[in-house]
Parts: sequence; structure tokens; C-alpha cells
Amino acid sequence: MNESAKTGYVYGPVPSRRLGHSLGVDMVPFKVCSYDCIYCQLGRTTEKTIERKEYVRVDAVIREVREYLDSHLRPDYITLSGSGEPTLNSRIGEVVDAVKGMTEVPVAVLTSGALLWMPEVRQACLSANLVIPSLDAGTERNFYRVNRPARGLTFARMVEGLAEFRRQFSGEIWLEVMLVGGFTDTLDEMRAMRQHIERIEPERVQVNTVVRPPSESFAERIPDAKLAELAEALWDSAEVIAPYEAKEGEELFAVTREEIVALLSRRPCTLDDIAEGLGVHRNEVIKYLQALESEGAIASEDREGKRYYFRGS
Ligand code: SF4
Repeated sequence: MNESAKTGYVYGPVPSRRLGHSLGVDMVPFKVCSYDCIYCQLGRTTEKTIERKEYVRVDAVIREVREYLDSHLRPDYITLSGSGEPTLNSRIGEVVDAVKGMTEVPVAVLTSGALLWMPEVRQACLSANLVIPSLDAGTERNFYRVNRPARGLTFARMVEGLAEFRRQFSGEIWLEVMLVGGFTDTLDEMRAMRQHIERIEPERVQVNTVVRPPSESFAERIPDAKLAELAEALWDSAEVIAPYEAKEGEELFAVTREEIVALLSRRPCTLDDIAEGLGVHRNEVIKYLQALESEGAIASEDREGKRYYFRGS
């Protein structure tokens, strides 16, 4: 499976440790989100909002998914996510239902969880097979510091929304916990977070830390040993999720590693340059860059506030 969708709203499949070959579906344009997380790999939020509307045309999204499935091998998951918060799209529930009606491939919703206190958002996600919401803080203070939510969102409301969704949803909830060095890397924070997780009762708790490049340079990665210690204190069965690393000789799906390395041999590029240059979605490019950087094929550095990638030595 190495053909990319390379269409407007559907991208990938992207290689994912958790979801295998995951076909991404973009429900909002770059970068419409209810949060402006300091660790966000997509960069700063340009439209921070809790207003729900049809940000991208749902009829076109459904058509693209159908066309993809008609002409490609079956992905492991179809994941509604994209360039911000997918549940901001007021018709996301129709997409979930339409995709479920056309394929047996399980549907996942990758969400911040910020809007699950809204009954209509919970309703929209109920037919999904898997919902992956985030919980990045145990306290209101760190919620504001790390997630920088839109006006109208409070920590208590967000947690209550997650707990209420759990009561209604019969599919799986995998809670993603992104820990940030200098902010949420204490045992006290883990204890506070644990109380909320007990109410949310997720099937899995997956702990991660900042992978470069974050939106803000002060959002620090937590070293592996410390991360393992925090995960153990957080939840008995918590899993630490390592970034995806391509196996020897594995082709990177939509584009080959040679294409990326060749592009970077010609000139250093930002994430956006690479996405535009190769006609690949930003979310895909992020995965490839993580894999290539971890194996030393490419390197990166900050220049004038932007992160540039170049060929490794
Ligand atoms: S990490 Fe997710 S929730 Fe946070 S700003 Fe980025 S897209 Fe939004």
C-alpha cells in the first residue's frame, strides 16, 4: 500500500504506530482549532474558536473517501482529524455515518476533546469505532498554560465532557496524554490527572512527549527515563508511545524517503515548503520527518523563528 490519495481532504495513508495504515480525513482547514497547544507540531493556531460550522464541504469529503476506497487497498483505519480540531466541523457526524455505511474499515476521531461537553458533539462521535481525545493537564492552571484554550472553554467543562462521553459511548476511548517538560512533568500533576482519568475510564492511556518541532521552542521534550516514570505514576497500564520509525528499506507511503532527502539536498525547507513541494499533507510530512530525523537521514535547526530541515551528514 504505497499510493497516496493526494486529493483535497483525504490524505495518506500515514504510517502510525497506534493505527497502522491510517487514512486521514481533513475536517477543518489549517489551522482552525479550539486550542493553541504549545507543543503543536502544526504551528500556532490561526483561528482559535469554539464556533462550529461546515468549515470544509462535507459532501466533497464523503465523495473523496468513497473514491479513495473504490480505487485503493483497504487502510487499517479511517481517521477524522486534519489541520486543527475536527469536531469544529458541524457536520462531522454525517461523515462518520457515511463512512461507516460504505466500508468495514473502522473509523477513528482524533480530537482534543475540548468540545465534548456539547451534546451535539458527543452525538456526532457516537457512531465512531474509536475516539482518541487528549488530556494534557491535571490542573486548570496547566490546562491554560499548555493548551491555551479558546475563550469559553474551562478545564472543568472539558473534563466533564470527556466523562459524560464515556457514559454514552460504547466504542473504545484511547486517551492521549502529551506531557511537556517544564510544565506537566511532575508527580503531583500525574496524581491530579489520574483522578480525572478515573472518571473518563478510557480503554487505553497513551503517554507521549514533545516531538520536534513544537509550536513554541520552550515546550521541552521529556527524556525517556523520566517519561516512563511519569507514565507509571499516571496510570497502571499507561503506554509510552514512541514516534514512528520506518523500518530498513520501508517505503514511506505517499512519497519515498529519496524524494524528501533529494528535496532537502537542494535546499533547506520548512514543513510547509516540503508539503507544498511534494504535494503531501502537512500531517503526513510530520510523520516522515520524525522517522528520517530519528535515523539521521535529515537534520533540522531553527532560523529566525522557523524550523528548517536539511539533509543529514
Ligand atoms: S495539538 Fe491538536 S488540539 Fe493542540 S493546537 Fe494542535 S491541532 Fe489543536
